[in-house]
Amino acid sequence: MRANPMADEMRRFKGTDEKNPFDAMIERFDRAAQLLGLDPDLYAVMRVPSREIKIYIPVKMDSGRIEVFEGYRVQHNFARGPAKGGIRYAPDVTLDEIKALAAWMTWKCAVVNVPFGGAKGGIVCDPRQMSEGELERLTRRYAAELIDFIGPDRDVPAPDMNTDEQTMAWIMDTYSMHARHTVTAIVTGKPVALGGSLGRREATGRGLMFCIDEAIKKFGLTPEKTRVVVQGAGNVGGIGALLMHERGYKVIAISDISGGIYNPKGLDIPKALEYSRKHKTFEGYPDADYITNQELLELECDVLAPCATENQITSQNAHRINCKILAEGANGPTTPKADKVLYEKGIFVIPDILANAGGVTVSYFEWVQDRMGYFWREDEVNERLKDKMVASFNELCQFAEKHKVDTRTAAYMLAIDRVAYDTKMRGIYA
Ligand code: GLU
Repeated sequence: MRANPMADEMRRFKGTDEKNPFDAMIERFDRAAQLLGLDPDLYAVMRVPSREIKIYIPVKMDSGRIEVFEGYRVQHNFARGPAKGGIRYAPDVTLDEIKALAAWMTWKCAVVNVPFGGAKGGIVCDPRQMSEGELERLTRRYAAELIDFIGPDRDVPAPDMNTDEQTMAWIMDTYSMHARHTVTAIVTGKPVALGGSLGRREATGRGLMFCIDEAIKKFGLTPEKTRVVVQGAGNVGGIGALLMHERGYKVIAISDISGGIYNPKGLDIPKALEYSRKHKTFEGYPDADYITNQELLELECDVLAPCATENQITSQNAHRINCKILAEGANGPTTPKADKVLYEKGIFVIPDILANAGGVTVSYFEWVQDRMGYFWREDEVNERLKDKMVASFNELCQFAEKHKVDTRTAAYMLAIDRVAYDTKMRGIYA
């Protein structure tokens, strides 16, 4: 007689703190699975990753000495297609974080209905302390170690925190050297000249804006009347803020890792970003107050877009969040404990697995273009992205209404339902 794995697992994860992103993912997964009445066999398969790979990566440093770095690739699910997801470089990367991010990729791809599973990679390193040559050797050896596990039909990496087009070009080249021919579809987020897609760099920020465009309609707002606060000035926050500024939104605050700037009348975003690029900080920027990231998150606004990292909105500050719409550009910026508080406050949440799915959507377009060997115009890419984001946003809202649940729960339910259906149709090779 088998025990009820769902009940056992739920007990095991009860009372965990707010720091572990994998626990946060599991808490939402369990709730959604329970509401869906998910079959226990499917539940047991879907709540764990398919594969966790840990690699020790020797790198010849510029000093001539060898340093060994720890790296991971977690492949969460393949039910709907090759695994897909970025690679991050940071000193505080953990396996549990990568596991959570890999699962979020599975749910994200299912929410926007692209034919991928989920994966994520990470290397524990401090890229700011490393030379370009060291980073290249680190990336190439990491890619070489993964050669049997990645591939256009297996697992397709992309950029994430502290990795970029150059990183992808090195991975593409390393993989191609081993394959003895050029394999562009092995990674997405490549330089356009090497088989990248036009519009990929801006895709996450643009997808976020498309979601916000839809959400503000629910509040009778127009871009000109909408005050937006953005945490983060990188690929998601910086580009998102810029695109929203161009669209006519009033972006009143933006930050980087050390702090942010605030002007209730609205910021000149191109000027602010130029200042931060030049000075490596927003501090000292004229025409605005310099504030902390905590202060920024608590500003009164219409749209708050956390676009930096995990665990920014927790039980500690959720009751002080003062927005109408929370648009999660980052992966996992809100903890489950904070979810409850935001729900009680009536804040409309565009959950991360939809809000930041523009990146992987255009990654999918890039993969398609690479495999066709035929490339689309930028306006075609943006148009197709808009179609996907708007349709997914509306589908999610309808699902939430139909099942009388909040949008976060609805997003998980929708994703789990799609992955479960495909897993069931394929059958479990057990
Ligand atoms: N790293 C991005 C994400 O978290 C993009 C992943 C991809 O394009 O595969 O969604």
